[in-house]
Amino acid sequence: MENKTPVTSHIAIQALRPAYALPERLTRDHLLVSSCYQCRKCSGGCPLTFAMDLLPDRVIRLALLGQEDMVLNCRTIWVCSSCETCTTRCPNGIDIAGVMDWLKEAAVQRGRAIPESDVANFHRFFLEAVRDGGGRLPEALLMRRFTLYQIKSGHSAWEVLRNLKLGWKLLRRGRLSLRTHPLHNKKEVSAIFKESGF
Ligand code: SF4
Ligand code: SF4
Repeated sequence: MENKTPVTSHIAIQALRPAYALPERLTRDHLLVSSCYQCRKCSGGCPLTFAMDLLPDRVIRLALLGQEDMVLNCRTIWVCSSCETCTTRCPNGIDIAGVMDWLKEAAVQRGRAIPESDVANFHRFFLEAVRDGGGRLPEALLMRRFTLYQIKSGHSAWEVLRNLKLGWKLLRRGRLSLRTHPLHNKKEVSAIFKESGF
């Protein structure tokens, strides 16, 4: 049976000294964590809490308290699939999924050790594929690059096969395309990537 308990739910949020740099930066980027009143509706609807070390409401609370180390080093921000269920459920309109994305970006920018390196690498391959595909996602290219990465980084044959099997299933159901038509204005797309330094 699936274990729905967060993997390290025992992490105690003890008396913390609030620090304001992080909430100020989040507020500047319109991620208004300060309106959170800890109703926990976000965590109640999240489908991935079983794999998280901090529940989404705790991430928001810790971000509000400026606990940068705890939120930037946690597994939750990488496990989050950006499904936005939490954002939809929040009675205060907090973009929790946006906060998770913001924290991922901050963790990478600050060179933090990433607890889920496969997820971070998948994000990188995804963006590279969109860049190389002229603004659209060449799914087959993404799959090929990610599979090669898995083989090179020592994943077990079972894991690689499982992903290939999934790819085959998607292909058979017409959910994975082998051809991608680039956007008309490829130059604009490359300029955006260039500007972002990617
Ligand atoms: S649903 Fe919104 S208000 Fe409730 S705990 Fe989550 S972030 Fe806070
Ligand atoms: S966006 Fe992330 S945190 Fe929110 S419900 Fe989906 S998986 Fe959970």
